[in-house]
Amino acid sequence: MAMTVRSWVPAEEAKPAPMPLLLVQSFVNTWDGDRGSDLLLDPTAAWAWLTQAGLWTAERAPEPAELQLARSVREAIRAMLVANSGGPQPAPGDLRPLLAVAQASRPALQVSLGGQVSLGPDPADRPDAGVLTLLLVIRDAQRDGIWQRLKACGNPDCRWAFYDRSHSGVGAWCDMATCGNRIKNRRLRQRQR
Ligand SMILES: [Zn+2]
Repeated sequence: MAMTVRSWVPAEEAKPAPMPLLLVQSFVNTWDGDRGSDLLLDPTAAWAWLTQAGLWTAERAPEPAELQLARSVREAIRAMLVANSGGPQPAPGDLRPLLAVAQASRPALQVSLGGQVSLGPDPADRPDAGVLTLLLVIRDAQRDGIWQRLKACGNPDCRWAFYDRSHSGVGAWCDMATCGNRIKNRRLRQRQR
């Protein structure tokens, strides 16, 4: 099967979600705790990534406030993924950035020439309305029953978003060889102390 190369998906994505949920996963993984890197910090880098991912359409780089919103939306989604992996439910304030996006933008209904009906950000809306796409993808994944499989790694220093394809749906680590064993060893050491 031919794989589509998507420049906005991290090269090391070992447990990718199906499209379009992969978009939400890659958005969350623009922050890499392991490397301490953040693709949504520098306006030029963020502009490139957001444009490639189809989340930004303006002919200019995002303003600092727009990037701030994108990063806070990202952490709100991550809080939901922590809950998906059996962690605590998001605190009331955690999801505020998502509410702000939902209230500031109105999705537009579109019909393609082929008769495909879709919902997306209004092209005439503010450029940062592109993140509304993420909310629509989340809604569809929740309706389709696959949302619970997009999780945040159980290692608090990692929190990488991964798609749990395990039959039982109880996967807890982005990668058992690194994070899983690291946490297990740490717990073992704590018990031995
Ligand atoms: Zn991890």
